[in-house]
Amino acid sequence: MGQGVSCSRSSGEHEFYSAVQSGDLQSVEAALQCEPGLIHRTTIYDRLSALHIAAANGCIEVLSILLDRSVQPDVVNRHKQTPLMLAAMHGKSDCLIKLLEAGANILMFDSLNGRTCLHHASYYGYSDCLQLILSEAQTASLAESWGFARFVNVRDDNGATPLHLAARQGRRDCVHILLENGGIVSATTGTYGFPGSTALHLAARGGNLDCIRELLAWGADRLQRDSAGRIPYEVALKRGHGACAALLNPSAAEPLVWPSPLKFISELDPDAKALLEVALMEANREREKNILKGTKYSLPSPTHYDDGADDAASVTSDVELCCICFDQVCTIEVKDCGHQMCAPCTLALCCHSKPNPTTLCLPSPSCPFCRCTISRLVVAMPKMNMDEDSGDKFGSPKLRKSRRSQGFSGCEGSSSFMGILGKLGRASGRKNEPDDLMDKP
Ligand SMILES: [Zn+2]
Ligand SMILES: [Zn+2]
Repeated sequence: MGQGVSCSRSSGEHEFYSAVQSGDLQSVEAALQCEPGLIHRTTIYDRLSALHIAAANGCIEVLSILLDRSVQPDVVNRHKQTPLMLAAMHGKSDCLIKLLEAGANILMFDSLNGRTCLHHASYYGYSDCLQLILSEAQTASLAESWGFARFVNVRDDNGATPLHLAARQGRRDCVHILLENGGIVSATTGTYGFPGSTALHLAARGGNLDCIRELLAWGADRLQRDSAGRIPYEVALKRGHGACAALLNPSAAEPLVWPSPLKFISELDPDAKALLEVALMEANREREKNILKGTKYSLPSPTHYDDGADDAASVTSDVELCCICFDQVCTIEVKDCGHQMCAPCTLALCCHSKPNPTTLCLPSPSCPFCRCTISRLVVAMPKMNMDEDSGDKFGSPKLRKSRRSQGFSGCEGSSSFMGILGKLGRASGRKNEPDDLMDKP
């Protein structure tokens, strides 16, 4: 080969990898000009290619020129890990996007634990990467060949789904995204019918209160036993996670469960969904307060709770109060009949019965005002001062914001309705307990 002194093999290779790692585009190009073969070489021990190094370090420019020079996007290292997996492990979403554009395969398994890029994104808690991979999985080819639902619940060599890993590591956002995309909340790590741990067991083990809340709100079963015969409550107790144990105690009040089996709930627009989700969190937080009352545990302050309590009260007179609780502002409208109510009341209406265990179907609730069956919910249009907001059908963003914070913040403190909500949650739980325990055909 006709290279000069600076292109001697060992030093050239070392300089090349350093340049890739630091994202030094000029040096990378110079090195490749000098010795084009470098692009296909790997490090000696870990067998990392330049593409792996660029992806792990988020060097998007270097990654791009490597891909432009037709480097195979799915080249694997010593542990059969692809650059895509490394980007997911390190949260390098730019590189992840670029690799996906270049045709990287999301359904590759590494040889360490048989994990996919979805496992890695969940384990390390990079929710943006997780979301990107899930979007990619919805594309026709994978959805057809493997099925989207199967991909979301893909197991590693230990039987762990991405949801198990996210719960174990305390990645609340990832837990949420996975559940929303069809992650099976009751899946166990046991294979071939053997018992194993659920995500709730793993969250209990790690003492991840946020993840426990999230899982319970998606209907995780507090009575399921792991391979050692323990329920999540016992796991939390043994590990000394007192507050978690209090919520997992089967004799404590049951939380409200997000009514995901309802068709119109899965079709909610993002704004209406956000309102109802916050109402659910608030109702369950109220329940938690009651559970933890008298114990030495207190709740940490909510992670993303939009507190608009101060400015809310001043505008209360302008807007219409919910005719069910006379406490909150109407934020949700039943599209079919136009009747409005507040988010907590809407939620209570949707959560008051549990899904039928045999069909996983919820009976559709009906409007409390006219008894018509609810098939669509939208964010309520303000009924006041409409002429001031000419043009925008849904009111100005500012108005909506104040309405929203108002609706939420009113839940803080003990409104009488929260008591009703709590009772509703408990009552429905008690009523349905026999159903849960019995194996009906
Ligand atoms: Zn209400
Ligand atoms: Zn109605």
